[in-house]
Amino acid sequence: MVALVFPALPTVTLPVTGRAERFPVRRIFCVGRNYAEHTKEMGGDPEKEAPFFFTKPADAVVESGSRIPYPPATNNLHHEGELVVAIGKGGAMVSEEAAEAMIWGHAAGNDLTRRDLQAEAKERRRPWDMAKGFDKSAVVGAIKPGPLPDSRLRCSVNGAVRQEASLSDMVWSPAAIIAALSQMVSLSPGDLIFTGTPAGVGPLNRGDTCKVEIEGLQSATVTIA
Ligand code: MN
Repeated sequence: MVALVFPALPTVTLPVTGRAERFPVRRIFCVGRNYAEHTKEMGGDPEKEAPFFFTKPADAVVESGSRIPYPPATNNLHHEGELVVAIGKGGAMVSEEAAEAMIWGHAAGNDLTRRDLQAEAKERRRPWDMAKGFDKSAVVGAIKPGPLPDSRLRCSVNGAVRQEASLSDMVWSPAAIIAALSQMVSLSPGDLIFTGTPAGVGPLNRGDTCKVEIEGLQSATVTIA
C-alpha cells in the first residue's frame, strides 16, 4: 500500500437510475456547438465546423436537486441544457460503430458557463477553463443504463421554457462524438461527455431554479442560492 502525505479525496460518483450502485466519474469532456441553431446564435457556421472539445474537472459535478452558490468572478452565469453520455468501456481511435458499444448510459446535464469570461477568452484568444471548468459547473442527473431512444430535451428556468430541441437535431451523434474524441485522447470507463446545447442559452440569477429534462431520464435540476 502506498503511504500518502494526506488522505486522497474520495472518487466523485453519480446515482444510477434503478440501481443502488453509483457511477464513478473519471473525466468530463464537453462538445462545443453541436446544434445548428446554437452555433448560429454564437456566431458560427454549423456547415463548416467539426466537433471541438473542452473539459471540466470531475469534482465540478453537482447532483440534481442541489442548491449551489452563484459562482464568483462572473456577472453572466448561463445555463446550457445537454444530454450527457456516460462511458462504460474504454477505447482509442475507435470507429463510430465501435463507439456505440462504449456507451454505458445517459443523463440530463447542465453545462453551467460564465458567459462573460468565455466571451473575453474568445476575444483575447485565451483558454476557456475558467469560463467552463469552475467549481460546481457540471450539473448531472442520475445516469440511466442502456440505450436512449430519440427524445426531446427541454431546459426551463422557474418553469419557463428557455431551450427545447430533439436529440436528433444534434449535428454530431453521441457515437460520432465518441469516435472523434477518441482520436485525441484514450477514453476510459467513468468518462462523461456533455454533448452540446441547443439554442436558447441565457442567464441564471440568484434564486432561480433551472431544470433540464430529457424524456426517459431523471431531470438535472439546480437552484442558484
Ligand atoms: Mn455546452
